[in-house]
Amino acid sequence: MRAVDIIEKKRDGLSLTREEIDFFIQGFTRGAIADYQASAWAMAVYLRGMNEEETTALTLAMAHSGQVLDLSSIAPQVLDKHSSGGVGDKTTLVVAPLVASLGLPVGKMSGRGLGFSGGTLDKLESIPGFRADLSKDEFIAQLKTRGIVVSGQTHDLAPADGKLYALRDVTGTVASLPLIASSIMSKKIAAGAHIIVLDVKVGRGAFMKTEQDATALAELMVQIGHGVGRKVAAVISDMNQPLGCAVGNALEVSEAIETLKGRGPADFVEHCLAVAAQLLLLAEAAKDEHDARAKLQAALADGRALRKFGDWIEAQGGARRVVDDDSLLPRAQIVGDVAAPRDGFIAEINAEEFGLTSVLLGGGREKKGDPIDHAVGIVLKHKIGERVTRGEPLFTLHANDRAKFGAAQARLLAAYAFSDAEPTPPPLIHKIIR
Ligand code: URA
Repeated sequence: MRAVDIIEKKRDGLSLTREEIDFFIQGFTRGAIADYQASAWAMAVYLRGMNEEETTALTLAMAHSGQVLDLSSIAPQVLDKHSSGGVGDKTTLVVAPLVASLGLPVGKMSGRGLGFSGGTLDKLESIPGFRADLSKDEFIAQLKTRGIVVSGQTHDLAPADGKLYALRDVTGTVASLPLIASSIMSKKIAAGAHIIVLDVKVGRGAFMKTEQDATALAELMVQIGHGVGRKVAAVISDMNQPLGCAVGNALEVSEAIETLKGRGPADFVEHCLAVAAQLLLLAEAAKDEHDARAKLQAALADGRALRKFGDWIEAQGGARRVVDDDSLLPRAQIVGDVAAPRDGFIAEINAEEFGLTSVLLGGGREKKGDPIDHAVGIVLKHKIGERVTRGEPLFTLHANDRAKFGAAQARLLAAYAFSDAEPTPPPLIHKIIR
């Protein structure tokens, strides 16, 4: 077998066999297949798609490109949640400690920013000292002692996805159903969680733009998860406007901490409760959704979730003091409000433009391995459906470069639509697939 034949076969729209997919992924993992070949192959998959058998084979090949953890000896049920990628999506930073604070262990493998969407690891690395590159042994040890761990791919766990993910980020091959499904589920299988809630985003700031595509992605991932004996549910959630108010790594960490203190933006709090409630239901830790929400709200209100966040950050080398002092987070040099250009209701806030602008400011990568600027980003002052008066602050821009500040301001203003009549905000949760 040769890599080039497999690339050509997919380029020509043919289905790949399991052997071909295994060969390609194994070769890529050990470096025998070059990045440029994997990039060409990813583009062929992006353009030609994959059927269910191919996607399942790709998922399993990537999951088995490193070790597959069996966490049963640590706890009968380890929980995990994963987002298909959004803008302002800092849900893991709240849901992981919130659920873990109820005694349910959370063990998660996360990713970095991908295209216009932010990545949990990049956000966490805004915290001084935080280490995302845990070894398998460190992952297991922390899960045992702290009941919460979030790590990136290492050589031990799903390394093929780690490598392919970095290429997809910069080669225009992110928004592909088989590539997203296999990327997410390979990490989930390798990291060994028994219970998984998939947060599948839909809308302008998501990779899946329509409910139909989001549902197809969710159903495929749920099916792959069931096929390997995991309990899986998917929440299809809206991503037409940024989630919460903050977009940008350190800014999102601050917003997550505020949320854990009970002061989060209403849409983000509701989203976290909806995702966390599904985890509790799958774990049979609540009678029904009402009971789940009551338990979660109690853990937020009495500080258990915030304490768990601190334990987690500390366990991974991060400065726990960030919980009380967010001046420890990187801060941008140029911070300024941008005013509403007219009176009216906010009818649209194009989330994808916010994600792309955050990348333009330096908060994401343009080339593989680029360093990122954790300090930059945007904080919205208003969301869809709210009324604004001309001249009042619409959002705050955090930049480290004057020219970029100006470019970002123009781009973001163009991402808004206003109306005289009160619009109906998009629903937060579109549906739940169990
Ligand atoms: N999250 C992932 O882990 N992979 C993707 O491809 C998209 C979102």
